[in-house]
Amino acid sequence: SRKKIIAGNWKMNMTPTEAVELVNTLKPLVASDDVDVVFCVPAIDIIPAMEAAKGSNIHIGAENMYFEDKGAYTGEISPAMLKDAGVKYVVIGHSERREYFAETDETVNKKALKAFEYGITPIICCGESLTQREQGITIDWIRQQIKIAFLNIPAENAAKAVIAYEPIWAIGTGKVATTEQAQEVCQSIRSCIAEIYDEATAQAIRIQYGGSVSAGSAPELFAQPDIDGGLVGGASLKPEFGNIVNYKK
Ligand code: 13P
Repeated sequence: SRKKIIAGNWKMNMTPTEAVELVNTLKPLVASDDVDVVFCVPAIDIIPAMEAAKGSNIHIGAENMYFEDKGAYTGEISPAMLKDAGVKYVVIGHSERREYFAETDETVNKKALKAFEYGITPIICCGESLTQREQGITIDWIRQQIKIAFLNIPAENAAKAVIAYEPIWAIGTGKVATTEQAQEVCQSIRSCIAEIYDEATAQAIRIQYGGSVSAGSAPELFAQPDIDGGLVGGASLKPEFGNIVNYKK
């Protein structure tokens, strides 16, 4: 059975000083052995957060990464930099990156390929807009996103990937998807992986739900057969994140 993975996405919040304070506050609250706990933090916070997280079960991840090894790409962070800092997870293709920074399914694919090259696990984001949901094209859209994201990624790597299903209309709105909606899409993502690869890869890959996850909604969401945890924005900046990680208690 798959180990749950519950990740915080801090987005553009927390100075390095605040990051250390938040890690110290949350450290005792997220101590759980049966869940992988990841804090995806701004690049400048990675090293101090990792220092503060020492001796705990918290993995520090990144929120983004560029798809080239190195060179004249002013302002970007390379996979080698993340790897050298000890980063094991990187969020790829968040809807905010797609909307504000022109990321596409193709750049998501390039970044995912590059992350695996460096032994970093990508948390690959997908999700539909409200208009797409209302048009009834959610499943088709997500399948398209997944197919492009996984182009040329071998099964052994795909099995280790994390996919985050984040309906855009549920992000930062307080309007969480119903458990039925979230399970339906996560199940269809797993079927899509089975079609691209095989059943074993589909059963191994971990699929998160993200979008207004709270301590209240987490237990029911994470109990669904195809939801293997969550990608949490707002609530990951508060002690509430401890209740989300310990959703079973
Ligand atoms: P919220 O939990 O704030 O809705 O954000 C979700 C998200 O985008 C996580 O990546």
